[in-house]
Amino acid sequence: MRLLVIEDEPNLAALVRAALDRAGFAVDHAAGLAEADACLRMAAYDALVLDLGLGDGCGLTLLRRLRARHDGVPVLILTARDAPEDRVGGLDTGADDYVIKPFHMDELVSRIRALLRRPNAALGVRLSLGTVVLDTVTRTTQVGSEPLGLSARETALLELLLRRAGRVVPREALDQGLYGMDSPATPNAMEVLVHRLRKRLQDAGADVAIHTLRGVGYLLAAAE
Ligand code: CA
Repeated sequence: MRLLVIEDEPNLAALVRAALDRAGFAVDHAAGLAEADACLRMAAYDALVLDLGLGDGCGLTLLRRLRARHDGVPVLILTARDAPEDRVGGLDTGADDYVIKPFHMDELVSRIRALLRRPNAALGVRLSLGTVVLDTVTRTTQVGSEPLGLSARETALLELLLRRAGRVVPREALDQGLYGMDSPATPNAMEVLVHRLRKRLQDAGADVAIHTLRGVGYLLAAAE
């Protein structure tokens, strides 16, 4: 799951990014409308976190442009403006949710997860293949009834593979889903991560296997 955080206050942006990163999301950051437009041209996002008061304009203009071109990407507005008319204005413009500053990072993360769980949004609730189960709400993973205890990044990788189980997932798609633009995967990072996840699954006796297709990507399938 890849998110774009559009926020001009550097400290807040860093805190939000860190919280979302810990929650297993790939996060890009734009400090203003122009940067956000550039990011949106380069990558596909599962949701946006949008500040309203930005250095180069109001976040609502970006939201209006998105909705005008029928882009239904979930948008959570983040703002210090707490006047009721601002809230209504944001929701009228097509925002999916609204969080008033100051807020708790935990609340932001759970509101984003809630957005992604809505119908037609990217996040289902329970993914499984064989005895392997991943709950996208609690971010827990199990083999049978035994917890797998994966890291946030390992869980994110398993989620991407489970969503396309039985099909090849291109390396670039995994890179895009797992790493933000500012922290791209080093050449080895993906292989190391896949290796770790594969070993975890094996050690837990999972009846699935991650196959490597050299130069193409990875495939999660039921074990022979
Ligand atoms: Ca601001």
